[in-house]
Amino acid sequence: MVCLSNEFWRDQFAAVDFKKRLLLLPHCLKHAEGCPADYDEFGLDCRRCGACVIADFKTRAEELGYKVLVAEGTPIVLKIIVGGYVDAILGVACLNVLEKAIDKVLMAGVPAIAVPLLSSDCKNTSVDEDWVAELIEWRIEPSAARTRTYVPLMRFAARLFEPGVIERYIPRPRLAQLDEGIDPVQDPLASTEAIAFDFLSRGGKRFRPFITLASYDAMTGGQATSADLLDQDDLPLPPFVCRAAMAIEVFHKASLVHDDIEDDDPYRYGRETLHKAYGLPIALNVGDYLIGLGYRLLKPQEGEDVPADAVADILRCMSDAHLRLAEGQGAELLWRDKKGKELTPLDALKIYALKTAPAFEAALYTGLRLAGPVGDLAPKLTAYTRHVGVAFQILNDLKDWQGDDNNKLVAGLDALGARPTVLLALALDAAPTGVREEFLGLLENGPREAGTIEALRGIFQELGVFDKAYRLVEKYRERARQVVSEMNEPVLEDLLLFLLDTVLDYEPPEPSGDGAAVVVSLQGTSRG
Ligand code: SF4
Repeated sequence: MVCLSNEFWRDQFAAVDFKKRLLLLPHCLKHAEGCPADYDEFGLDCRRCGACVIADFKTRAEELGYKVLVAEGTPIVLKIIVGGYVDAILGVACLNVLEKAIDKVLMAGVPAIAVPLLSSDCKNTSVDEDWVAELIEWRIEPSAARTRTYVPLMRFAARLFEPGVIERYIPRPRLAQLDEGIDPVQDPLASTEAIAFDFLSRGGKRFRPFITLASYDAMTGGQATSADLLDQDDLPLPPFVCRAAMAIEVFHKASLVHDDIEDDDPYRYGRETLHKAYGLPIALNVGDYLIGLGYRLLKPQEGEDVPADAVADILRCMSDAHLRLAEGQGAELLWRDKKGKELTPLDALKIYALKTAPAFEAALYTGLRLAGPVGDLAPKLTAYTRHVGVAFQILNDLKDWQGDDNNKLVAGLDALGARPTVLLALALDAAPTGVREEFLGLLENGPREAGTIEALRGIFQELGVFDKAYRLVEKYRERARQVVSEMNEPVLEDLLLFLLDTVLDYEPPEPSGDGAAVVVSLQGTSRG
């Protein structure tokens, strides 16, 4: 399969400039006993001591212009691709990893070729060095026919909220009225707009706007998935479709501002949450402002030919999503504040279906509805997004246990805040009486400090909660896949399968039955 895949991509890979390529090496190639290199957020920072082949590959590839990563896992790679830094990948990995990666690469449409390791021992591994060296140098002129790719759309969605781009779609009247040199945050009339736009420009994976743009494009001929658009700032998409995609993200960001207040979270996207930075009243007000902004984005502008019934349908879908989100959040808050923390996994999953799935559904529905009537697909979209949303939320809960480096920063905040997560429900479900009481005691009375987190982590590991949660993710992934297989819309099916793999991307845990292994395997994933 590796050879077939390489053959499929060879010309397209070789046509990509060296400067737009990524060389991805596994850290198990290093000299396990003597390697002096440390790990940072990008993986192993090779010191080129010469004790293994990594130094040689890295040196030659960097001379040519490659970016080089010695790391495991696709989230960081996806970030680099979406950031526009690379258009093709040369990867070295064991067959286990390559087997899983080949599908993902094909669906994303990123030219990638690979060399399998000669063993899968995870330590002091080796590779056919001549083969890798030959592929590093491989370069031919661009071929005419290129494979469809979602990368231009992912990059476009990621750029939509960057300063300088966002203003093309959402004018900033208050900023325009200010004299030069005045800080808009300090100006009473401009500050709400300034704080809101700054918050919109901060992190997040922009999955939701991507879903809207890609679903519209899929149903209107797929012009924005041409590989020729990889370096283009603009895509052939109507401005109203872009604004509707942005509206979904703006609503999502409004809900995050209010959610952070309700949970009193200290950090979001690696920075202080708005209520910590500016105080509660201002943060509340910025959340309200964002809701208003979202609705304003859905108004067609003069000269735009958008059918009124499509706008009405989208408004209905978005307001419905908003209501369900509020109901789910309300259920969560009530549970958090009540005495007697009984919770079944089904209770938690119902809350997830309300809290996370509607935004995915609204994003998908909006793109499809702008392309034409949705008809019989509507209930299938609801089912698909419910499964994806639930699985996505379970993954987020698992990530809460590692103190994500680019979002909430502190591990176990959900547990400390006594949120009704599926992990808590699984623990309550599996705990024998003594452990259950200890567990409930920690939840209801435990000191809010690091010791509580470690005690809860120990209980979760003992009860195999992390493994069970991963199995649930896979169950919901399979259900979503089943719904897709019944759609009879091949182009849309491709997109939905790609979304399934992208939104639910994580490093699979080792099959150990031990929660600790699961937690370790989560390193390198990130929260959206
Ligand atoms: S060459 Fe780099 S990766 Fe290999 S052992 Fe030395 S420092 Fe470690």
